Amino acid sequence: MAASMLPTHDVDCPYCGKFLYSALSLENVVDAEAPTSPKIETDTGGNYLRCPHCRARVAMTFVEVRGRPGFRLADSPKP
Ligand SMILES: [Zn+2]
Repeated sequence: MAASMLPTHDVDCPYCGKFLYSALSLENVVDAEAPTSPKIETDTGGNYLRCPHCRARVAMTFVEVRGRPGFRLADSPKP
């Protein structure tokens, strides 16, 4: 089944509340292999996504969903 057939929903940046990425399923997972997915970057602190709106470093956790690599939000932002 094509990835585009799967239900998606929008995940907002936990810092500024603006659109961050389209996630698969209710698990807030972004498909690491989909061409439309945002680029997950890596530094010494782990995986992250750079918010295009507020430039926040949004920590992401690697997960595997039904055999496919993906990422989801690592944590809620700390106050
Ligand atoms: Zn943001």
